[in-house]
Amino acid sequence: MEAFNKDWKKKLTPEQYRILREKGTEPAFTGKYFDSKEKGMYTCAGCGTELFSSDAQYDSGSGWPSFYDPISQDVVKTEHDESHGMNRSEVLCSTCGGHLGHVFPDGPKEKGGKRFCINSESLKFDSKE
Ligand code: FE
Repeated sequence: MEAFNKDWKKKLTPEQYRILREKGTEPAFTGKYFDSKEKGMYTCAGCGTELFSSDAQYDSGSGWPSFYDPISQDVVKTEHDESHGMNRSEVLCSTCGGHLGHVFPDGPKEKGGKRFCINSESLKFDSKE
């Protein structure tokens, strides 16, 4: 486990490591992607797996990149999270187990009602151009 963590430290920036591997959160309205309007694909900053399409992104006003849904249900997994005195569903990359953010039931109803609230630091963006 120790060696495994060292590998992540080599591969990730300190801020990516804090969020992906230690379940951190970037401050609202500071990330690269929270108000992005570009078309393309968001991949996991840890392992490169495709996770979210810009087609499913919307401006939730929260200050974090927000999506109705991942590109398929199996690319992410959720876990019950009671940390910080809250009752939330944590969202993780299915492939590498990296912490991505949380999912809340207050998304747009016509799109299924979910809000995947994801840290910019957990993502990399591939533009479609
Ligand atoms: Fe991953």
